[in-house]
Amino acid sequence: MRKLGMNICTAFGTNEIETMQLMKETGFDTCFTSWELGKNIKNIKRFADSIELEIETLHAPFSKINSMWIADSNEGDYYTEELKKCIWDAGENGIPYVVLHTTIGSVVPMTSHMGLTRFGKLVVEAEKCGVKLAFENLEFPRFMMLILNYFKNESVGFCYDIGHEYCYTPGLTFLPQLGDRLFCTHIHDNFGLGKEKNVDYRDDLHRIPFDCDLDFEKVCKKLKECGYTGSLMLEVGNRSDYNYYDGLTAKEFIMKAYDSAVKLRKLTDGE
Ligand SMILES: [Zn+2]
Repeated sequence: MRKLGMNICTAFGTNEIETMQLMKETGFDTCFTSWELGKNIKNIKRFADSIELEIETLHAPFSKINSMWIADSNEGDYYTEELKKCIWDAGENGIPYVVLHTTIGSVVPMTSHMGLTRFGKLVVEAEKCGVKLAFENLEFPRFMMLILNYFKNESVGFCYDIGHEYCYTPGLTFLPQLGDRLFCTHIHDNFGLGKEKNVDYRDDLHRIPFDCDLDFEKVCKKLKECGYTGSLMLEVGNRSDYNYYDGLTAKEFIMKAYDSAVKLRKLTDGE
């Protein structure tokens, strides 16, 4: 049976260890966590191993990711070094994928050769560590597409963010075109492009599937058709400006998320 996963969400008062315990008890098979400088991934992985919960990906930081494309600045070089550490942590802890953004925000630099050079350093590092890099679709797919086309090798692939596709690039579908590069998924719900019709991060609600109006039946069908056999990974939370899930306990939130994941699997595989 296809694996079901979720981000280790600490928005409901539990720490990462307690959250993983609840996720395992609820039925999840796998999960991912955000990486940051100084975070003890070894501890998290050790605990996950002890309860037989997989950690599929480390989510790399992205607050300064635009700097990767800017040639006449050292910031991109420093950031490349920081991202390498995330890749090392994945490699040392047997976590197979690192998920990367290619831009942040709605004002972004031009694509550049320097950007490809810096991302290329990460690709080399990933290959050394036996880690795969999964690039996620965001507001501006051209950055991701450039990287996927430039680095056509087995270590570089696609993290299909289904919520982002709906609210950031309405009308665009990344499957089946990128189906053969698909490493992993990020699944969450929203109401698509906001009223103002400007692409805006505030539309990216990261709600539990079936709480908004994304057409999961259509998406799951495409996932199945492209031959993807990996996990269905939720990326959900309680966004602070909206607080949709206030009043739920961590366990209630995780159980609600799990129910949605089971429903997604049924839509995808019929089981
Ligand atoms: Zn995502």
